[in-house]
Amino acid sequence: MIQKLDIKTREQAEFQEITLKVREIVRDSGVENGVCVVYIPHTTAGIMINEHADPDVVNDILNRLEEMAPRRGEYRHSEGNAAAHIKAALIGSSVTLPITYGELALGTWQGIFFGEFDGPRNRQVLVRISADK
Ligand code: ZN
Repeated sequence: MIQKLDIKTREQAEFQEITLKVREIVRDSGVENGVCVVYIPHTTAGIMINEHADPDVVNDILNRLEEMAPRRGEYRHSEGNAAAHIKAALIGSSVTLPITYGELALGTWQGIFFGEFDGPRNRQVLVRISADK
């Protein structure tokens, strides 16, 4: 089964935690053991798992991405958002998580984050859940 999450980003660049929304989809699925793939059909956004206890962690990641691929820089891509494509490439467009005992097998400090690099925009996250046979 595939579920869609609509995400509305507010900043040009930001991370939004979506752990609770994905957790809800997993619970509603009734799958006890399986795999959850969280995928985004975008080229200027990313998805990652990282620490959600201290919000400064994702802010540090965002700041370092900006240093690696500054918004204003020398790029060839004529659309003008090359920096966002580079950040998206670094973060990636999917994460895969095991489902055990009906829950995402996330560690205590882990959360799932949607990364916006060319916002604000309306975005989508696709969540695919497969049950073990
Ligand atoms: Zn582009």
